[in-house]
Amino acid sequence: MAQITQSVGRLIDELAKLPGIGRKSAERLAYHLLRVNKSEALGLSDAIRDVRENVRYCTQCYNLAEGELCTICGDVKRDAGQICVVEQPRDLMALEQAGVYRGRYHVLLGRLAPLDGIGPEQLTIDKLVERVRGGGVREIIMATNPTVEGDGTALYISNVLAEYPVQITRLARGITTGSVLEYTNKEVLADAMTGRQRL
Ligand SMILES: [Zn+2]
Repeated sequence: MAQITQSVGRLIDELAKLPGIGRKSAERLAYHLLRVNKSEALGLSDAIRDVRENVRYCTQCYNLAEGELCTICGDVKRDAGQICVVEQPRDLMALEQAGVYRGRYHVLLGRLAPLDGIGPEQLTIDKLVERVRGGGVREIIMATNPTVEGDGTALYISNVLAEYPVQITRLARGITTGSVLEYTNKEVLADAMTGRQRL
């Protein structure tokens, strides 16, 4: 096997750990980074450092934020009476791109998956209940993925919230069962939000 330098080998090893990047792609990326000019290559490492040092979870909704609150929680024009519950920040991004929702969000940072040992205490459900208990919330929109685990999570949360005077709705079934929000196109997501139904 051809000899590569130690640092090139290390870069390839690190790149190959990324999801969807096999060994061959990692090699291609590494050689690309060696070929482009230095500032371009270092721009990538700066961006990684920046994101890891400055980005954290919003203290209110667990979306990604660069301060205490994310841009949505910090926006007084967003309706605080509606909370849309999603699994991950990337689901929130997909819904934002659909452009029809003007309320707030709550990011669970996962979904209930008993077989993988993921129970309610590993998610941010307590914090959601706290927000509802705080008052001023009219509607909780369940936008977990239409999968067995996503549906189970929505059901669990709606049971937990049953004692509070909030309306609980679920995205309409325009989204194919088993599909994932982040890969669903904007129009379908917009329809699912507009046509949401009482759970
Ligand atoms: Zn937030």
